[in-house]
Amino acid sequence: MHSEDPQDEDAFTEQITDLRCPSCGGKLHAIVARKNIPYEGDINILTYLCKNCLYRETQVWSDGESDPEEVKFVIEDPDDLNAVVYRSPTCSIHIPEIDVDVYPASASTGEITTVEGILLEIRDLAESFQQDSEDPDRARNTIRTLTEVISGRGDPLTLILKDTTGRSEIHSEKTEVVRADHDKE
Ligand SMILES: [Zn+2]
Repeated sequence: MHSEDPQDEDAFTEQITDLRCPSCGGKLHAIVARKNIPYEGDINILTYLCKNCLYRETQVWSDGESDPEEVKFVIEDPDDLNAVVYRSPTCSIHIPEIDVDVYPASASTGEITTVEGILLEIRDLAESFQQDSEDPDRARNTIRTLTEVISGRGDPLTLILKDTTGRSEIHSEKTEVVRADHDKE
């Protein structure tokens, strides 16, 4: 089962790798499939599959590179927590009021979530780093501020998504999008 034809929507390639299954130690197969999905256009989906125990791990990336983009959204109302967010694998998240910068992990995949989902994830990260933090007070403040905003209280927070491929989105009329010709960082 092998296809190289880029016009074929269901084109996929499969090969066996030297990577070991983290679950049973069997050899992982790498399967690359191309698909057209909402938000991304043509994307590639890489799945590592263990045929022994059916462990699988998936990564997604897009064919088309587009311009860097910065998406800005002010959370000031409990309804804002429900705004749908698409976060691409190249997206970093910034909340200037509480000095939060979350950079994409190398294995991260795109996800569809909500503003609340992003805040919960950052709070989890802050909680897991709190013990080793050089500045536990700052971590505590971050957790407290996020908890207030998640429960619909607290001061407005600015959520900024910086995406070198410009694919991340926050679905709301309030969202401001700034295209950057050059990544200034
Ligand atoms: Zn396995």
